[in-house]
Amino acid sequence: MNLGMLRSFSLIIFLTSLLWGQNFDFALIKKGDENSTNRLLIVGGIQGDEPGSFMAASLLSTHYEITKGSVWIVPNFNFYSIIKSSRGPNGDLNRKFDNLSKDDPDYYLVERMKKLILDESVKMVINLHDGSGFYREKYIDNLHQPRRWGQATIIDQAKIDGVAYGDLEKIAGEVDAHVNQYLLDSEHKFHTKNTQTYLKKTFEEKEMSKTLTYFALNAGKAAFGNESSKELPVNERVYYKLLSLEKFMDIMGIEYKRKFELNAHALKDVIDNDIFISFNDKKIFIPLSRIRPWISYFPVKKGDQITFKPSSPVMTVLEEENQYVVYYGNKKLTTLVPEYLDYEHFEKAIKIDVDGVEKEVHFGSLVEVKEYFNVIPQEGIRVNAIGYVNQKHSNESGLNIREKYFLKRFSIDKDSKRYRVEFYDSKEENKFFGMILVEFVGES
Ligand SMILES: [Zn+2]
Repeated sequence: MNLGMLRSFSLIIFLTSLLWGQNFDFALIKKGDENSTNRLLIVGGIQGDEPGSFMAASLLSTHYEITKGSVWIVPNFNFYSIIKSSRGPNGDLNRKFDNLSKDDPDYYLVERMKKLILDESVKMVINLHDGSGFYREKYIDNLHQPRRWGQATIIDQAKIDGVAYGDLEKIAGEVDAHVNQYLLDSEHKFHTKNTQTYLKKTFEEKEMSKTLTYFALNAGKAAFGNESSKELPVNERVYYKLLSLEKFMDIMGIEYKRKFELNAHALKDVIDNDIFISFNDKKIFIPLSRIRPWISYFPVKKGDQITFKPSSPVMTVLEEENQYVVYYGNKKLTTLVPEYLDYEHFEKAIKIDVDGVEKEVHFGSLVEVKEYFNVIPQEGIRVNAIGYVNQKHSNESGLNIREKYFLKRFSIDKDSKRYRVEFYDSKEENKFFGMILVEFVGES
């Protein structure tokens, strides 16, 4: 253990944040058969304060396999607004699809999206939203009435002639009927909301003709909005979105496999716990389930940009005030306080005795341990088990290390089960090779 001992913590606050300098272009995830001309385009995150929208699109891109047909997914259309958890820091992106000045900060995003919509292979476009309350055709109460948007399939008109899937009202009705077989509560019932955009006269109503779906419609594409209610927790919003999207795919003859059971409970687990990130070409791997809000002395390559690979397209790392913040949609998951080190390549695998069985592991692995682990001493390598209390040895290889020897606060997770084991050049203190994680899975 030498983290706390070696250095005293000093917080350096830089007045400039690099947030504005980051690239917030959206991801385009292409799934299924790229030669298909029967393509579905799904747009999530057009407004950053609607997590049901971008989480559903994100999960479709990471936890579904498309086995027939083609789906293009933009999970984070307005990525900057997602990170800021704001509807639209540069104005509402869903009102920029008619005439937009080239000076508008979102001009490039809108043009790029228009190109995708206009692609000849795209036959249907679905724009995902979280809407207020519960849409009902007739006024029931403030929360359940025609002016609300939640729990509805949105169309701009009943039909569009001469276009594939142009019977919008019929398709929306089929999607609603499908979703309504699996309601968690009768209040969540889906309805079709027809905004009749082309008939609208008032200023407020004309706003609907500036939307993404209306642009798609005028380009001869079947287009739908999908709204789950902001009154529901995010996992339930995502549940209704995925139910809807699966039915849309069925209608288009697109086939898929899903990596989890579609229920609200399983979705919560997937959203909260099946998340991770790796850094610097997988030399470091961090599961983000129940991660602590701060991780200190995080090895960052000196003089270089941090490189990372997130498990979700709505996840990113931003440098803020000389620290690295891991964002997941609207949420700050953790802040990495960097320790700048030289990185050095180390070819060989690491040998570890885990509960009496010798294993070869690579940097970026997570090793499950019941009783103890012992990193087998190796020429040129110094081992530092972060949080392991040890006064005698500067190199912590060749020692049987048990869970009880760790100071809990050095774990990376809130349950104090996962600890970092770092590998350095034995001759040069600040040359970092890589990291593995040990997770104690036995009873403690
Ligand atoms: Zn919206």
